[in-house]
Formats: sequence, structure tokens, C-alpha cells
Amino acid sequence: MKKILMIGTGGTIASEATASGLAPELTPKQLLQFVPKIAELCKVDCIPLFNVDSTNMTPAHWIGLVRCLRDNYDSYDGFVISHGTDTMAYTAAALSYMVSGSKKPVILTGAQKPIGFETTDSKVNLLDAFTCASSDGMCGVNIVFNGRVILGTRARKTRSKSFAAFSSINYPYIATLQDGVLMQYITPESRPAPEWSDTLNTNVGLVKLIPGMDLELLRFMLERKDALIIEAFGVGGLPSYSDDKFLETIIDAISRGKVIIMTTQVQNEGSDLAVYNVGHRLKGWRNVLEAYDMTTEAALAKIMCILGKTSDPDEIKKLFYEPVAHDILYHCGD
Ligand code: ASP
Repeated sequence: MKKILMIGTGGTIASEATASGLAPELTPKQLLQFVPKIAELCKVDCIPLFNVDSTNMTPAHWIGLVRCLRDNYDSYDGFVISHGTDTMAYTAAALSYMVSGSKKPVILTGAQKPIGFETTDSKVNLLDAFTCASSDGMCGVNIVFNGRVILGTRARKTRSKSFAAFSSINYPYIATLQDGVLMQYITPESRPAPEWSDTLNTNVGLVKLIPGMDLELLRFMLERKDALIIEAFGVGGLPSYSDDKFLETIIDAISRGKVIIMTTQVQNEGSDLAVYNVGHRLKGWRNVLEAYDMTTEAALAKIMCILGKTSDPDEIKKLFYEPVAHDILYHCGD
């Protein structure tokens, strides 16, 4: 029997009703008692690492998770992390870069309804997660949810209430599960040993453009942040309005070593700055990168990891465009 480590972090799956709303209360051991079938699949040890609503997860928690995985990596065949759904896609993306190339599966799961509720997705998600964590063909960081297996770099929460909470963005589901049977279509890449990384530069910001956006907001963010992700419209670009101050502000920021990542607020199909003049004029500047088909969650986690290692513009660019766990497919040879 495979040996799986379950790491509890909280979330709805572990929540109970309190006078002030749902709050995480249950330990991983208590969660397992609701799904006795898991004991027939594998041998499980548990670590109750955190017990938080994932709204409260921070990069410090990601580092805690990475250290826990690293300390226990050699003793187990796979890992299940129970996690709140709200920021699960961010954690999955972060772990994809911080535990890169793991040949052992690291499976995140959670639920939209607590495990103690009469109608709940907790039990099936937990069983599916353990099925994946103990499967021979599965590797790397993935989210298992509602019968789907999604690469950690490609997941996004796209529904706030229904059981089909997660989608795989710009990449196929790597597997599906039906009545406990795993059907795997894609085997994620892995290496003999994962590359561990627990140094992040978390001084990264995100702004979403709105029509008529206040330039001061961009300046404010660029003063404070080492890197800024800009979610532009459509395939991407920067407003020129009447005075072209946005571009001037960006050029001033990059000349001071700031990093800009242009992406799109459109969920599917990614950015392509080369298409329109408003985007094209950003191409070729040092320290202006483009996320293409990456999710914002992945772009954010990747740049935090990269800036934790280097501030050299050539190295930043090389590492950003180097695919990790199929996070980026398309780029026009930037
Ligand atoms: N607020 C909860 C959390 O992210 C939602 C959930 O788990 O579904 O922890």
C-alpha cells in the first residue's frame, strides 16, 4: 500500500457552522473519519499544519507548506493538501514553482460545502484526491476537484458557489475521475528529484485596468512594488489617452529596475501585445514581460519565485518564459 501524507490547512472542507458563519475547525484526522474508503486505498499520516480560511493564506503559508513537503518528501509516495477554495489556485501555482518537477503527486483539494453537511462535495473530492495521490501515473502539483484534475499552473476558481468551482485555463484537464476511477490523459513532466525553492520576493502587485483609469494609481503601485502585473483589456495594451502618460510612467519605472508583466483580464486565450498599436509599443523594452496564455495566479507566483532568486533583467526574462509545469505554451520569441 502507498504511504500518503495529508497536510491540513483549513478551508470550507474543514469548517463547521459557528454563530458568526463557517469557520475551519476539523483536523485532517477528523476529515478522514468521514471517508473510511480512503483507508482501503492507502496508508495515511496527517499533519494539521494550519487551520485557516484560505482568504488568510499568505506567501508565508506557501513557504510553510514547501518546508513541510520537503521535510517529509522521502518518507511518502504522495501528498494531499486540504485547502480552502478561495485561494487554492494561488497556492497550487506557488507550489508548482517552489516544488518544481516533483515526480510524486502533490494534490490540493477542498470543497464548496463542509464535510459535515448533508449535501457536500467534500467526501468525493477527498476520495478522488487520495486516488490521484496514490496513482502510479500522477505526478507534480495538481488540483483535484469535482472529478477533474487540473495542473497547478493552470487552475482558476471560476464559480463561487457550485461544485464545479475550478476550471483549467488555456490547457486541457489532465485527468477525470468517475466513481473513483481515474482516467488520465496527460502525464505531467517530472524530474528524478524536485527543485525546491523557498525564497520569494513578495513585493509584487496587480492592477486591473478600467476605462479611464487614474494614472496616479499606477504611479502609486510602481513606487511601492518591485514588479507589477497589469491586467489589460483584450489581447493587451496600455491606454494612450491624450498625453501618453501611462507609457511614460512605465518607461520611467523600468529604468529604475521595476518589472512589468502585461496580461489580460479576459480569462481565456491569453494576451498578444503585438496585435494592436496600444500593446505593440510595449514590446522590446527591458523588464517588460508578457504573460501570454499564463493565468494571473501563475504569473504572480512565478515572478515572486524568480525575483527571489535574481534581479538581473536577462535572467528574469529567461526564467519567466521558460515553461514550468506547462504554465506557458505560446510566446513569439520575445
Ligand atoms: N472561504 C473558504 C476558503 O477559501 C471557501 C472554501 O474553502 O470553499 O477557505
